[in-house]
Amino acid sequence: ATDGKIKAFLHIAAEEAMERAKALDEQVHDIRQRSATGDLSHLLFGIPGAIKDNLNTKGLPTTAASKILANYTSAYDATAVDRLNKENYVLVGKTNMDEFAMGSSGENSGYFPTHNPWDLERVPGGSSSGSAAAVSAGQVLFALGSDTGGSIRQPAAYTGVVGLKPTYGLVSRFGLISYASSLDQIGPFTQTVEDAAVVLQAIAGHDPHDSTSANVAVPRYLDALTGDIKGLRIALPSEYFEEGLDPAVRAEVEKAIRVLESLGATVGQVSLPHTKYALAAYYLIAPAEASSNLARFDGVRYGVRTEADTLVEMYKQTRAQGFGEEVKRRIMLGTYALSSGYYDAYYLRAQKTRTLIKQDFDHVFASYDVILSPTAPTTAFKIGAKVEDPVTMYLNDIYTIPVNLAGIPAISVPCGLADGLPVGLQLIGKAFDETTLLRVAHAYE
Ligand code: GLN
Repeated sequence: ATDGKIKAFLHIAAEEAMERAKALDEQVHDIRQRSATGDLSHLLFGIPGAIKDNLNTKGLPTTAASKILANYTSAYDATAVDRLNKENYVLVGKTNMDEFAMGSSGENSGYFPTHNPWDLERVPGGSSSGSAAAVSAGQVLFALGSDTGGSIRQPAAYTGVVGLKPTYGLVSRFGLISYASSLDQIGPFTQTVEDAAVVLQAIAGHDPHDSTSANVAVPRYLDALTGDIKGLRIALPSEYFEEGLDPAVRAEVEKAIRVLESLGATVGQVSLPHTKYALAAYYLIAPAEASSNLARFDGVRYGVRTEADTLVEMYKQTRAQGFGEEVKRRIMLGTYALSSGYYDAYYLRAQKTRTLIKQDFDHVFASYDVILSPTAPTTAFKIGAKVEDPVTMYLNDIYTIPVNLAGIPAISVPCGLADGLPVGLQLIGKAFDETTLLRVAHAYE
């Protein structure tokens, strides 16, 4: 009913969802009995959810919002999707996004932009534009997104919902169409922190199909939501409160800090000195990995082919017509950064910078439990406002990108309104300490 205006979905699986819901109806009695005994293993039973279109969903289209995959149907389920299936959720459809997850506004979709439910003239953020908008508009109770440099947290902030990027390796990337493999993580969008804990519980955990999946025990996240944060140490990084931060956003974040203090947390100022290099490092590493990952879209293995007289001409035509402008820009940047003679100067240097950024975080976490910042420097901007200027668009991710470079978890929770638009509060945690993030976010909420 609402998607005509919002356009969160690339594909609505209406028939499949109804069939699934009917089949689940048969089991409701059984589930009621199980919950009466305190069994929590079916918290997603019958719950409608949406999946970002770069995650494979067997039998349904998976396009990553690219024309090059316009005719592609998944042959298997991503591990995260498979785990939701086992919990008996109901898949409502595949959500719109920036093509191959490259973007911060949803406007790089190869199909159409998604509109922010709070103000239809504004972007919902990106790249997980549709997943954020669908949860914000109440079309579904949760959605999965992917976050390479902020693509879950920033759209969550812009649409007033909760968005969690787990520690790198906590959620299997098997079946996620890779953008930058060393940065990509799958995570949930929800309306509440409690719901985020439930969805994370379902999708987290080791998967032998992903060699970067961590073999760690998954805690019971709901148990962490005690409301008690007395004595918790919160760090405020000065670099995240400098020029470029909209004063109206800053004011809401400062109110949140006072709320957390009133709950018994202590706050201290810290420095993350290498923050100024994060964007530059990211825009070398991410395009470099993308240029390699996207080599597979050649008109032979997957998707749409443009016929031509020779094989090389077929590759060229397929990629020229199938990829959008931003994707081509990143393939060019990445190929250049990796080319012989430039590798040491660019890619290797960016990787070294990444280590320094990670060490900044390690240093702060030696004396603090969480780091607090705004999720994004502004609220949602108007559709079309930044589309001509990629560098301005890239600057939007300044507070989210360092987290991906360090591989650590972070959550964005709604934190008031600035000029009538939602503001996001970002909490950053130690590796595999999602428990503390959820506890603090829940106490604040
Ligand atoms: N906006 C960033 C980019 O364009 C991050 C995207 C993401 O997290 N997938 O690369």
